[in-house]
Amino acid sequence: MMRNPLLRSLVIGLALLLVLLGCAGTGARQSSGVQRLYVFNCGESTVEDISRWTPGVNVGKPGAFSANCYLIQHANGLMLWDSGINDGVASMPEGFQRNKVSPRYTLRKAFSAQLAAIGIDAAQITRVAFSHTHGDHVGNANLFTAGTLYIQQAEYDAAFGFEAATKWNFEVELYDKLRSRKTVKLSGDHDVFGDGSVVIISTPGHTPGHQSLLVRLPRRGPVILSGDMVHLQENWTARRVPSFNYDVEQSRKSMEKVAAVIADTGAELWINHDKAQSDRIPKAPAYID
Ligand SMILES: [Zn+2]
Repeated sequence: MMRNPLLRSLVIGLALLLVLLGCAGTGARQSSGVQRLYVFNCGESTVEDISRWTPGVNVGKPGAFSANCYLIQHANGLMLWDSGINDGVASMPEGFQRNKVSPRYTLRKAFSAQLAAIGIDAAQITRVAFSHTHGDHVGNANLFTAGTLYIQQAEYDAAFGFEAATKWNFEVELYDKLRSRKTVKLSGDHDVFGDGSVVIISTPGHTPGHQSLLVRLPRRGPVILSGDMVHLQENWTARRVPSFNYDVEQSRKSMEKVAAVIADTGAELWINHDKAQSDRIPKAPAYID
């Protein structure tokens, strides 16, 4: 068909180049674009009876939860994941308790001050996502008005619907500035940077549009940031779901989904509220890469 030898070698050369480019492309997708992950101590909460979170066990036992914020430094920009307990609590010596049955929140150092200490201004953060809209995750959401928000449609509808406070017990004043921001509404998993290195995993159940985050660190390997998909290591082991979750059965399915991702990727599961585990993870200004 192709009699012209010059044309033929040109076509072969071009095909070879495309194959090589294809390989390079695959290579780029496999290698991580994430450079660093900072974990911040964004407060703690204490409860008088932890059995609300561990149905059937620990009745009458007090407990303490960690609350972390996370900043992902990717080659193409900074991404915030969860924003912890509101910075105002840092100046309350006794901490803050919303009502008698709520956890008591304490915060040693404001998140904004911790970011400043590593030379980061909220305006530099171009992507923002929260596991869900509870006050100990969106406590400082209003600081991050520059980035694009990634939120599940179901969570958006609950958070900005007329029943946000009454039905969902959300504290709208903590995140009301999100409403006017550039938003990507999701209905399922989402590859944030398009290279597989940071993937939002839809894990509904705790709230209608709860989500978790897979981060592929270049040296440490993949980690999954749980949000409140699970609250404690012991709950993960027993596949235990708090009865106050929006949908207990959906919560169980989300746990199985994450377990499958872990089986597939070998990821570590970092449980936001598990204080014993959180205490072992280096905190900013240190970082994990
Ligand atoms: Zn929650």
